[in-house]
Amino acid sequence: MYNIVYIPGDGIGPEVVNAAKRVVDATGVQCNWQEAHAGLATFERTGDPLPEETLAAIRGADASLKGPTATASGGGFRSVNVALRQKLQLYANFRPARTIPGIKSRYDDIDLIVIRENTEGLYSGLEHTVVPGVVESLRVISAKASERIAKFAFDTARRQGRKRVTCVHKANILKLSDGLFLDCCRKVAADYSDIEFDDCIVDAAAMKLVIDPNQFDMLVMENLFGDILSDLTSGLVGGLGVTPSANVGDDAAVFEAVHGTAPDIAGKGLANPTALIQSAVLMLRFLGEKDAADRVDGAIRTVMAEGKRITGDLGGTASTTEFTDAVVAAL
Ligand code: NAD
Repeated sequence: MYNIVYIPGDGIGPEVVNAAKRVVDATGVQCNWQEAHAGLATFERTGDPLPEETLAAIRGADASLKGPTATASGGGFRSVNVALRQKLQLYANFRPARTIPGIKSRYDDIDLIVIRENTEGLYSGLEHTVVPGVVESLRVISAKASERIAKFAFDTARRQGRKRVTCVHKANILKLSDGLFLDCCRKVAADYSDIEFDDCIVDAAAMKLVIDPNQFDMLVMENLFGDILSDLTSGLVGGLGVTPSANVGDDAAVFEAVHGTAPDIAGKGLANPTALIQSAVLMLRFLGEKDAADRVDGAIRTVMAEGKRITGDLGGTASTTEFTDAVVAAL
């Protein structure tokens, strides 16, 4: 029996979290689900978008499944996602991009993983006004966090049978900060002689990913580059509605979809729950439930390949519940 925290979140969050819970339960893996809260609705109710009891629940759980949470741009409270990653030291963001048969995209054979450093870079939250009209954001890169993420990438590559890790950086211009990141990756790579290592400048990596994504296997990079390029790789396999992610630290792991709260379709039963169900697949793998993970992955692929009960964002007419029913039936 696993203790799993679930956070419904805002917008379509409750709909897609509910769908993912149903699918996990249908695998037969025993989960004791505990509800916890975060996001805009939580802020409006309690004055805190990320209450301490939610952090404590996540720390105490075997894993957590999180729905998207709304953040206002500009002013307002700090992003729950950024705060969660920093407070729980969820230092590794893991985003696979794998072609799903039946989903229209530019390529039909993609199998890539992006690993993003999750705690520093430009997301350190260190911004200040120098004089009115001039602001500075500090882009923090530390050897400790860089070596930690490089080690996570190589360990994951080894566990998943990946052949090559590519460090993506801008060390030709950001000589100190990205120079350090690249040096740390090189140093860690030396301990993994079974896995190839190379590096690529971020702008060239963006172009190469669009032209021929399969020249890469696993990519590791700092926070902002990872944020942007992992959305790009999601776009290569059909978009945000189908892309899962994992945020992993030494003491906690939070699995969530890449998409946001989709306020335009919230509460209408139109949301595609695939990304959160795929996040639950990553969670099952993390828990060591490989068989259940493979079965859910296979069920999604079956329903997608049939193409009869897919949601509106993918050109179908099925509701969130109808799609989830189909996945559960395929299981
Ligand atoms: P969004 O991902 O919510 O929506 C972009 C478009 O994609 C919309 O048209 C939406 O309807 C569609 N879409 C997204 N997910 C879908 C799904 N599962 N099924 C079908 N269609 C889907 O991005 P946004 O509009 O830029 O952001 C809205 C809010 O979400 C903001 O407050 C933002 O801060 C937040 N957000 C949260 C997370 C997170 O919690 N992980 C991530 C991104 C954005």
